[in-house]
Amino acid sequence: MASNVSVKVAVRMRPFNNNEKAAGSNQCIIMNKEHNQVVIKNPEGKEGGEDKVFTYDYVYDSCLPEEDENYAGQDTVWDDLGMELLEAAWAGYNYSLFAYGQTGSGKSHSMVGFGEARGVIPRACEAIFKKMRGDGESSGGGGGKDGDDVRYKVEASMLEIYNERIRDLFVPMNQQDKGGLKVRDSPSTGAYVFGLKKIPVVSYSQIERLMAFGTKNRTVAATNMNETSSRAHTIFCIAFVQTVVNRDTMKANDIRSEISLVDLAGSERVSRTGASGDRLVEGGHINKSLSALGNVINALAKNGTSKGKKKILVPYRDAVLTHLLKNSLGGNAKTTMIAAVSPSEDSYAESLSTLRYADRAK
Ligand code: ADP
Repeated sequence: MASNVSVKVAVRMRPFNNNEKAAGSNQCIIMNKEHNQVVIKNPEGKEGGEDKVFTYDYVYDSCLPEEDENYAGQDTVWDDLGMELLEAAWAGYNYSLFAYGQTGSGKSHSMVGFGEARGVIPRACEAIFKKMRGDGESSGGGGGKDGDDVRYKVEASMLEIYNERIRDLFVPMNQQDKGGLKVRDSPSTGAYVFGLKKIPVVSYSQIERLMAFGTKNRTVAATNMNETSSRAHTIFCIAFVQTVVNRDTMKANDIRSEISLVDLAGSERVSRTGASGDRLVEGGHINKSLSALGNVINALAKNGTSKGKKKILVPYRDAVLTHLLKNSLGGNAKTTMIAAVSPSEDSYAESLSTLRYADRAK
């Protein structure tokens, strides 16, 4: 498989929430947009606990007042990441976007969004249909040249991985196979989820309805940190095919792109959530798959910059998450991670761990 992997990392800081405001907690993270840097200050000022500075591809400060010129809202994130996503789709690259961070740090806000503040997933779906029709700022971009006819096919699927088991979110809970779906490897198409529903879609509103159905269908378990948080990884996939037909020769050529948009389970360490029993098992599975993802992205990033040196083996098989996303991570793929953090010193330890994880992924 050709290796043309690019990994980009963005860090996004949300505003203080009501609990943090009520507690009067201080801000321990400062972002420098000009240098794409993030400084995290040790609130206890202990020895060896000096400020740490990290540099990323993008830094998004959503903790600033909205009128500040450096404030990053949903539009800012979309302007950077959305364009890359569309370019990848039309050029026939696979694309994956991950949101990483502790529960309540803003992963769903970036990926899905709430109300008017739509996140990357709905914007991407809408933009794909807009671009297919050829309207808007990104018109005229198809995979075909003048003199070609282009036909498009879009299919959506949605799944979650809970305790290393795959559930199809387009299938109602009571019709699910208890053992979960399995990942298979095909010599021609690579890794795929056997039996996963792929629904052909022809409009944005249809995708919106499907997403709403899938989102309601997720496994939601209460944890001490956030009652409605999902302890599962949720993946929304778009399979995008352009069939380019040359008008003279009538020869057809398919350009394929798989887009995987992944809202990861909360990265908080199990002890912090006061977990026992089932929650402890969940936590173990989450830690395992997040560290497998970190290792895979790290290996890909290293291979991407190794310039002819021997490539490291990428450990896809270590977790269900990395195995099923093998096509969207390796091969001809673009990968972006949004690491979400709270500004508050109360979350210092989790934020530092998130910044380190994101730093390793570069
Ligand atoms: P997670 O998915 O990581 O558990 P959420 O995305 O649900 O976290 O965010 C927790 C809360 O913080 C939500 O009420 C959300 O609206 C708010 N929030 C998160 N990020 C931002 C942001 N960048 N701007 C404004 N509000 C945000």
